Amino acid sequence: MPLVSAKEMLVKAHEGHYAVGQFNINNLEWTKEVLLAAQEMKSPVILGVSEGAGKYMTGYKTVVAMVSAMVDSLGIDVPVALHLDHGSYEGAKACIEAGFSSIMFDGSHYPFAENLAKSKEIIEICHAKNLSVECEVGSIGGEEDGVIGNGEVADPKECQIIADLGVDMLAAGIGNIHGKYPANWTGLNFEVLAQIQDITNGKPLVLHGGSGIPADQIAKAISLGVSKINVNTELQLEFAAATRTYVEAGKDKTGKGYDPRKLLAPGSSAIRSKVIAMMTEFGSVNKA
Ligand SMILES: [Zn+2]
Repeated sequence: MPLVSAKEMLVKAHEGHYAVGQFNINNLEWTKEVLLAAQEMKSPVILGVSEGAGKYMTGYKTVVAMVSAMVDSLGIDVPVALHLDHGSYEGAKACIEAGFSSIMFDGSHYPFAENLAKSKEIIEICHAKNLSVECEVGSIGGEEDGVIGNGEVADPKECQIIADLGVDMLAAGIGNIHGKYPANWTGLNFEVLAQIQDITNGKPLVLHGGSGIPADQIAKAISLGVSKINVNTELQLEFAAATRTYVEAGKDKTGKGYDPRKLLAPGSSAIRSKVIAMMTEFGSVNKA
C-alpha cells in the first residue's frame, strides 16, 4: 500500500472519538517496529520525522525510500502516513519534493502574520498534491531539535484563523511539553482545549509531547477533539532501558551477543511493545 495522506484517518478518528499515534522514527529499527506494531494491531499509523532525524538518516529521500520499501517488503496493508514533524518553511518544501505524504509546518516562532502567510502557502502547495498538513499556533513547551518553546497556551482566536485556511490538523499549546514532564507540571489546560475545538468547528487537534501524559488526561483530551498524539521521547526511553539491561547483564560479551542484530533486539522489541500499548490507549486498534 502506498503512503497515504493523514487526512482521512484523522477525520475518522475525530468522528470515532479515538486518536491516531504519530510515532517518531530515527532509523531502520524504529521504522520496522512501529510498522509491525501497526500491522499487528490493525491500526492506522503516522510515522513522524523531525528535521534532525531526517538529517541523521542522510536525508529526506532516504527516509521516503526506506519507509516505502519497508511498507512493501513487510506487506503492511494498514494506512501509513509519512509526516514531517515541526518542519521549517524550507524543510516543508524539501519534504514535499522528496515524497512525504504529510507535512507539519511549524511557524509558531514567527510573528502571527508571518506564520499565517507561510502556513497559507504551504497548505496550498500540499493540497494541490493531496498531502495532509498540520500547522502550529502558540509554541509547545520543552525542546525539540534545539527549538525551545515557552510552554505558552495558544490563543483560540489565532487557532480559528489558521483553521479557516483549511489546515487538516492543528497543533496548539495547551500546557503540553516535549520531552520528559517535570514533577511540578500542572497538567493539560482542558478549558483552552475545549475553546479551541469549539472555535475551530471540530478541526482534528494534535497533542504534541504525548510521552508521559497520564492516561486519564489523554482520554479527556481525545474526548475534547484531539485526534493525533505525538510520541517520541517515550520510545527512546524504552529503547535505552532495554539496551542498558542487555549490556549490564554482559550479554554483548557472551557468544555473538555483540552482533548488532542481537544487541539491538531487546530495544527494538521494547519499542514494538510500547507502540502497541499506546495504540491501545489511544483507541486506534482495529481502526485501519
Ligand atoms: Zn512537537
